[in-house]
Amino acid sequence: MMPVSQRWLCAFIAWVGFAFSIAQSQELPKMKFNEVREIAPGVFFRYSDIRVPFDLATFGGSNNIWIVFEDYVMVYDANFPKEAQDVIAAIRKTTDKPIRYVVDSHHHGDHAYGNAAFAKAGATVIASANTSRLLRVNGPKEFEDAGKGKDGRKDIRDSYLKVPDLIFDEKLVFEDSKQRVEIMFFGHAHTAGDALLYMPKHKILCTGDSCTNGPFNYLGHSDTASWIRVLEKAEQLDVKIVCPGHGKLAGKELLGKQKRYFVELREQVKKGIDAGKEFPDILKSIDMPWHKEWTTIEANTRKDETRHVFDEMTGRTMPWDLVEDFGIYEGPSPTKKDKGWTGPKKIIVPALMPARLRELKMIAPDIFFIPVKTAAEAAKEAPGADAVIGFCNADIVKANSNLRWIQIGHAGVEKHLVPELVKSDICVTTNLQRLHGPNVADSAMALLLALTRDVRTGNAISADRWKKLKEASRADELHGKTMLIVGMGGIGTQIARRAEAFGMRVMGIDPNEAITKPAFVFSLDRPAKMMDLLPKADVVVLACPLTKETRGMFGASQFAAMKKSAYFVNIARGGLVDQLAMIDALKAKAIAGAGLDVTDPEPLPDASPLWKLPNVVLTPHIGGQSDGARDRTWRLFRENVRRFNAGEPLLCVVDKGKGY
Ligand SMILES: [Zn+2]
Repeated sequence: MMPVSQRWLCAFIAWVGFAFSIAQSQELPKMKFNEVREIAPGVFFRYSDIRVPFDLATFGGSNNIWIVFEDYVMVYDANFPKEAQDVIAAIRKTTDKPIRYVVDSHHHGDHAYGNAAFAKAGATVIASANTSRLLRVNGPKEFEDAGKGKDGRKDIRDSYLKVPDLIFDEKLVFEDSKQRVEIMFFGHAHTAGDALLYMPKHKILCTGDSCTNGPFNYLGHSDTASWIRVLEKAEQLDVKIVCPGHGKLAGKELLGKQKRYFVELREQVKKGIDAGKEFPDILKSIDMPWHKEWTTIEANTRKDETRHVFDEMTGRTMPWDLVEDFGIYEGPSPTKKDKGWTGPKKIIVPALMPARLRELKMIAPDIFFIPVKTAAEAAKEAPGADAVIGFCNADIVKANSNLRWIQIGHAGVEKHLVPELVKSDICVTTNLQRLHGPNVADSAMALLLALTRDVRTGNAISADRWKKLKEASRADELHGKTMLIVGMGGIGTQIARRAEAFGMRVMGIDPNEAITKPAFVFSLDRPAKMMDLLPKADVVVLACPLTKETRGMFGASQFAAMKKSAYFVNIARGGLVDQLAMIDALKAKAIAGAGLDVTDPEPLPDASPLWKLPNVVLTPHIGGQSDGARDRTWRLFRENVRRFNAGEPLLCVVDKGKGY
C-alpha cells in the first residue's frame, strides 16, 4: 500500500491526465453520482443521481453538461428545481463566469422544470420550437400535477414553470475563441422537441433522452420510427464521447445500441402482429439478450415500451409525423361528450387488402366494416351506416340523412361538396389536405426545371441531335429568381421550401389570416395584392383549391401582368385558369412557358393547341401520386377511424362553406 499522500498524488496526476486526453484515449471515467468531471477543456459533465429507474423517491434528475465560453457559461438541461440549485452550486466551483444560457433538451420535468432557477441566476432559456410549444400549451398543467399528491415533488410546488425565451427551428450556433456549440433539432425522437448539443472541436455529443445509457428509455411521447432516423443523423456526426440524458458517459457506440433497441423491438413486434398474435404473446416473445447486458433488464419485461411500439404499428397512437411535418390539425367533431353520442356501428370502406381491413378491426373491434368497390355500391350500402370512407357523391348523401362522417380520398374536394352534403350539419367531411405536399411540390419543381433546363426539348438520342440541341439550348437558372406561389397551404409550403433551396426568393399569397409566414418565405400577402406582385415574379405557381371564388381567377389580365420572361406552373386545378387566355399568352410569347399537371378538361381534347406548343410541358395529373402519399393516406384513414370510434375530433376537416 502506498502512503496516503502519494496515493492522493497519483489520483491527482491520473485526473489531470484524464481530463485532457479523454478525447484521444477513449477511456471514460467511472463516476460516482453527483460527481463532476471536466471531459474536455472547459466542458464539464455532472453524472446525475439516479439509482433505481422506477423508484421516484430516488429519482435524481438528469445528467448535466456545462460549457465555459470566454465570457459566459452555457448549461445543457435545466434538471428539476432542486437539482438545478445543486448544478448551479457545482458550476460555481468550476468557474465564476456568468451562466448566460440554459438549454432544455426537451420538455420533461427532469430536463426543464429547473428553468426558473437558472433564469433567476441570469440565464436565458433555449429550446426547440416544439419543446417551447409543449411547455407553453400542456406545460402549466403538467407542472402543477408534478407537484401534487404524496409522490409530488416539493421543489416543484415551491417553484414555477419558466417557459423558453430563445426558440430555434433547426440549428443554433454559439462560437468564440474557446468553444463552438451547435444546438440541433433532428426530428421527433424521445419527444417532438429533442434538442441535441454538439461540440465539434471536442467531438462531444449531448443527447438528452434521445439517447440514454441503461434502463432509462421512456417511450410515452416518442415516435420510434422517427427516433431511429434521428439517431442515424447523430451517427453521421464526428463523435468520440456521448453524454446521455441518463446513465453513464459512453463512446459513439451508444448511439448504435440505442438505435438497435428500437430497430429490433419494431422488427419483433411487427413479426408478432403479422402472425396475428395478441399483445401479451408478443410481449412474451421479445428476445434480446444483449439488452439485458446493457440495461440489466430483460427486454420482454419492458411492457410499456413494447406496448408503445405495438400501438404505433397498429394505428392506436397518433401518427405524429402527419401533424408535425405536414401541419394537419384537428377539427371540431362529435365527441363522446356531445348529448346523445353513440359509438359508430357501421362504416363503408373501399375494398381493402385483408391486412388493412384487419388493422381497422384491431383498432375498432365493434365496428362492422363494409368494403365496397364503387361509389354506386357505397350508395346502396349507405342506409344505416355511420360513415363512408373514400367515396362521396350526392346519391350516398341522399341515401342516408343520418350519415355522420365522410372521408374524401382527395385533397381537392370541389367535385365532392354536393349541396346535400354542404347543407347537412351532422355530416363532418374530411379530406387529404396537406398530405400531398411533398409529391405535388416535387411535380411543380420537375415541371419548372423541365422548362428552365431545356429538358422538354427531348432526349439527345443521336450525336447529330446532341449537337443541335446544345447549340439551340436556352437553359436558364433558378438562382436569384423570384417565385410567386398562389395558395400557401400544405402544397404551397412544400414548394416554397424547395424553391428556397434553389436560391429563389419566395412570395406567397393566401387568404387565410391564420397562416404564419415560414422563415423560408420572403413575404406573405392576401389575394388582393396579386396584381401588384405578378410583375415582380419570374415564376408563378398555382397551388390553391378550386372554389367559387377561385374558378377562372387566372385570365388575360393576369397573364398580361406577368413578365415576358416568366414561367407559369399549375399543379392545382385546370379550372383556376382561363385556358384560352393562357394559350393566347403562350402563342404570343407574352410569357416564357408553362408547366401544367392539370388542364380543363382532362384529358385535353386532341384538338387542343396546348399539345403542340413548344413552350409547354404537360403531365397527366400525376402530382398526387407517390408511395409516400399512399402510405400517408392510409394512415390518415386509419387514424380518423380510431378517432371517430373514440368520439375524438377528426383530422383534416373541410370547411364546407369555404370549399377546402
Ligand atoms: Zn424525458
